[in-house]
Amino acid sequence: MDATQFYIGGEWVSPLGTDTMPIMDPAEDARIGTVALGTAADVDRAAEAAVAAFETFGRWRKAERLDLLRRIRAVTEVRREDLAQAITREMGAPIEMSRAMQAEAGIGHADGFIEALEAQEERWKLSNGDTLVREPIGPVGLITPWNWPINQIALKVLPALATGCPAILKPSEHTPLSARIYAEILHEAGVPPGAFALVFGTGPEVGDALARHPALAMVSFTGSTRAGTSVTKSAADTVKRVTLELGGKSPNLVFADCGAALEERVRASVAECFLNSGQSCDAPTRLIVERACYDDAVEIARDAAERTGVGDPRREGDHIGPLFDKLQWDRVQAMILTGIEEGARLVAGGPGRPSGLNQGWYARPTVFADVSNDMQIARKEIFGPVLSILPAADEAEAIDIANDTEYGLAAYIQTGDAERAERVAARLRAGAVHVNGGGLGWGTPFGGYKASGNGREGGLMGIEDYQEVKSLHFG
Ligand code: NAD
Repeated sequence: MDATQFYIGGEWVSPLGTDTMPIMDPAEDARIGTVALGTAADVDRAAEAAVAAFETFGRWRKAERLDLLRRIRAVTEVRREDLAQAITREMGAPIEMSRAMQAEAGIGHADGFIEALEAQEERWKLSNGDTLVREPIGPVGLITPWNWPINQIALKVLPALATGCPAILKPSEHTPLSARIYAEILHEAGVPPGAFALVFGTGPEVGDALARHPALAMVSFTGSTRAGTSVTKSAADTVKRVTLELGGKSPNLVFADCGAALEERVRASVAECFLNSGQSCDAPTRLIVERACYDDAVEIARDAAERTGVGDPRREGDHIGPLFDKLQWDRVQAMILTGIEEGARLVAGGPGRPSGLNQGWYARPTVFADVSNDMQIARKEIFGPVLSILPAADEAEAIDIANDTEYGLAAYIQTGDAERAERVAARLRAGAVHVNGGGLGWGTPFGGYKASGNGREGGLMGIEDYQEVKSLHFG
């Protein structure tokens, strides 16, 4: 299961340097392969191919680009199981979830982009007589994280190709296997040489080289706020367009008017928080509960957490898998200890591994109650199966607590009152508001307010990020 070659200029090539690193299986903490780590020289080589490809690929007609996207979608469908197996091995998502959500994202986003591109006007006239055209921005650099590897790759590679932008992808160095399969999919689908490149490597080396590269017109980044800030600074000298999808600490407001639905809504909220072992940027990690139903909600959340299965991600079932690596496990353990030290009430889980799981990076599904919003466990992204429950006196206080965060990626509302849902949604400073378990459809723009980033990915707005607008004036 090695990833020791890069895909540049339409073929698999050897890296110019010799650095490598192990690929680890988080379920067993065992080495399952080797990934090559590239250098700025590998990025130069990919950029040269991208610039050459832009001459022709940048002028592809919409019908040709649509055909390409449809072929990519078809091959992704054929390779779905390979993607799911690779994701489960390299980052520990349970296999059923890898199939139904992680790998599925490669197909769903393709549908969203195909529909958006079909509908988009690339040339139109203004009422003042001037004409506007949309054009590809140029060769782009794409940097993605490990937690939803194919979701993030598809959200960037597909709109780049949809618009005629040659793309150089640097996936997380920790999840190269699914990225390698995705490059094989693109090759088989007939992406022209140079229009897509895959270079493995670390953030400070290959990621930073993409951000700085003078031949690239844009860099699209998904990952931590810390690295996103660094990318923005490195891109500044070349005045690149920078889009950022960063972290979150998303609030989930629970109102007593849920009535009889409270149990189902809180159980679903806990499941959503623990999905992907809590390693989702938009996870609802702060459960802000109206006082009138607070004690009931805490009890339901405790029970839901204790019933959450944890186990081998290769086994079928609805359990959650391990955390992604030792670093992540250590961070989550430290945050659980911080929560205890800060005086939050531990109602489920806690430090250490679940009983019977002595190997691999498994964490205990953990719930803290009586959390106040100034505690670290309410402010920092934990990225593990850890839920913080905060009481709120009423709607106004719940909104204040929800918005009192540096982030603004997603927010969630559980209520039996449709008018309240609209009223509260309008007040929440977040890029997506989910009411009573409503999910995000393919093609809907995804992105954050505040320190959660800028730009939107998916569908039409995701395509527009990769385009320039030119005005034409005929005398
Ligand atoms: P990370 O920031 O450590 O790494 C993300 C990517 O950036 C990797 O490819 C990494 O190699 C690269 N990178 C790191 N430092 C860099 C630098 N200085 N210059 C250029 N590239 C650099 O994040 P991670 O641990 O892989 O992923 C988890 C983070 O990603 C969480 O904060 C999570 O919230 C965020 N995330 C956000 C979204 C979203 O859409 N908003 C989606 C998934 C994950």
